[in-house]
Amino acid sequence: MTLNPLALPDTDDADAWTRFVDERADTALTRARAIVADLKDGSTRTADEVLHLWNDCDIEAANSSTFASLLSEVHPDPSVRELAEAKLQATTTFLTQRGQDRDLHKVLSEIDAGALDATATRLLEHVLRDFRRSGVAADDATRARLTEINDRLVVVSQEFSRNVRDDVRSIMITPDQLAGLPEDYIADHPADADGRVRITTDYPDLIPYLTFARDRSARLALSHESTNRAWPANDPLLHELVELRAELASLLGYDSWPDFDAEVKMIKTGDAIGEFIDRISALAESSAQKDFAVLLDRARADDPSITELFGADQSYYAELVRREQFDVDARQVRRYFDFTRVRAGLLTVTGRLFGISYEEVTDAATWHPDVTTYDVVRDGRRIGRIHLDLHPRDGKYKHAAQFDLVTGVSGRQLPEGTLVCNFPRELMEHTQVVTLFHEFGHLVHHVLGGDQQWSRFSGVATEWDFVEAPSQMLEEWAWDVDILQSFAHDADGQPIPADLVARMRTAKEFGRGYNARTQMFYAALSYRLHLERPADHTAMVRELQARHSLLAYLPDTHFQAAFGHLDGYSSGYYTYMWSLVIAKDLFSAFSADDLFAPEVAGRYRDAVLARGGSADATDLVADFLGRDYSFEAFGRWLGGDDADSAGHHRDN
Ligand SMILES: [Zn+2]
Repeated sequence: MTLNPLALPDTDDADAWTRFVDERADTALTRARAIVADLKDGSTRTADEVLHLWNDCDIEAANSSTFASLLSEVHPDPSVRELAEAKLQATTTFLTQRGQDRDLHKVLSEIDAGALDATATRLLEHVLRDFRRSGVAADDATRARLTEINDRLVVVSQEFSRNVRDDVRSIMITPDQLAGLPEDYIADHPADADGRVRITTDYPDLIPYLTFARDRSARLALSHESTNRAWPANDPLLHELVELRAELASLLGYDSWPDFDAEVKMIKTGDAIGEFIDRISALAESSAQKDFAVLLDRARADDPSITELFGADQSYYAELVRREQFDVDARQVRRYFDFTRVRAGLLTVTGRLFGISYEEVTDAATWHPDVTTYDVVRDGRRIGRIHLDLHPRDGKYKHAAQFDLVTGVSGRQLPEGTLVCNFPRELMEHTQVVTLFHEFGHLVHHVLGGDQQWSRFSGVATEWDFVEAPSQMLEEWAWDVDILQSFAHDADGQPIPADLVARMRTAKEFGRGYNARTQMFYAALSYRLHLERPADHTAMVRELQARHSLLAYLPDTHFQAAFGHLDGYSSGYYTYMWSLVIAKDLFSAFSADDLFAPEVAGRYRDAVLARGGSADATDLVADFLGRDYSFEAFGRWLGGDDADSAGHHRDN
């Protein structure tokens, strides 16, 4: 059967988009409500019939919200973004009510599950678990309060991310403070009439400046602005988020929000998050100290009075060490990463790896002319559609992420996803190329996992602490010499030299220990902010940064205010490192000599990606590897030569 993609308005007229958002969201939500009413109409239905109606309801709920979630972050018109936010809120309210609907719960809990197949049984278990976690068994007053909390959480979280998105700050510098930056960056930042140059906290301005600018005071000043974004506006909002989550968990009978949140993850309990953070921090200790001493020595060669390093020093000196000691100059490297060629290379590489191809749809209607659209084709059949929205603009999401546009359902809906990134239009840093591969990992997971009968298990709907594993593994393909040489060509058409790639690979391992420690600072903050709910968040930032990170706290900054993951991941930022443990293990099945080996790649596609959330991630991984996952490959990588000193952490 041929499935059609979603028809988006073929115009930049904001009114047309407003009508589209209104109609799609309202139609789907009205249908979802009607299905709930049908389920409760007293008719006699088989278990299968009940679950299929439930699935129809899931599909409508997803259709009323996924596209709105995307448009609320990318549509050029603020009124469309705001309307999309309102539609999202309406869906959340509906889902909260559905989760607490006792009559509906009775219908689902009383069906005869005996005749269901394995995946349908799994769906029913998840649905009943969702009901329990929504508080269906609570008394009326408690359920009313839970509804209030959920509604309020959506509003607060939207306000939190809007503040992060809209608060672009800047510093004014003199042209000589551009010393060290690449020529095209300097050319793109001319002085104004007063002879001053503006550098903003948007990534395309910020990242190169913190990496290359020789002027330490200017780097620290820009970093100071960047780590004060959304401050103080987000301080009360973050407190409210944390308190509401704690109250919600408590009303549902959990000891803490982390316990509630972890129950449906691979990690299972809040305590296990704390243990994991300590385990990784210890495992990284010796490698972190060793590499950090190199950074500090290098900084002190410039300025002997330096006794501690800040984030804006680390980015600069790590780059300097890579250049001087590993002979990798990011300014030379980026000459090979022309955006258009990288994008084409990405499609070729992932197409070959996963046995698919991409056909550009030049006449596809989208929300902005920057967006390119492709049909994903496998065995001559369209299996999905992707949209790449890769350059920055005002009011657009500031980070890099995959957004579902349409949830894939077998025979009913074509999976569609969107990459939203903020890359330059010309030369990219290699780190940005890695990010592009990473995010594309989510996109291809959404599409390949989108051929599911049950919407609940479609695409990236796996445990949240597994979802970063496929994308972190795909990053490895952006480090392979043969792969890079296939698309990384300079302006004269010369491919990136193999010895340069070899040096880049050595250099990338520099700092893995102290970077892991910084990651554990973020993870500890996300976990303990929710566990302990301190009155002063900044004090906790300082405490945990001192404990886990080797970088010093930059005075008078409030990192947490623009740390978007505290909104999206709540207490679960550990997820990234946890997924990396799994990613290293998954990658150990591939041969470094041939990352395209069709047997392994095909098995990975079918055993892991294509199954979406239809089985526990632990089982997907075990089916692919032929054994349970372990810390072995990760420990070898993070411990490096010093792994033996932390050997007792490596058993699992
Ligand atoms: Zn990711």
